[in-house]
Amino acid sequence: MIEFCCEFMEYHANFKCDIHENPYDCPDKIVIFNEKSNDYGIIIHDGGSSIIEINFCPWCGDKL
Ligand SMILES: [Zn+2]
Ligand SMILES: [Zn+2]
Repeated sequence: MIEFCCEFMEYHANFKCDIHENPYDCPDKIVIFNEKSNDYGIIIHDGGSSIIEINFCPWCGDKL
């Protein structure tokens, strides 16, 4: 069970869209969380699969 820093991060990290199977295709999906490496990233919706790795939560400012 993973504990997220705040409810916003929990919501976005767990967010799954019914329409877009690929998270990189979904404009509503903004945070990618990699459970294995414990990495967080913000998806850049440029048609590819670019992400910006983040070390602090954009909502609460906690270290991730
Ligand atoms: Zn947070
Ligand atoms: Zn979607």
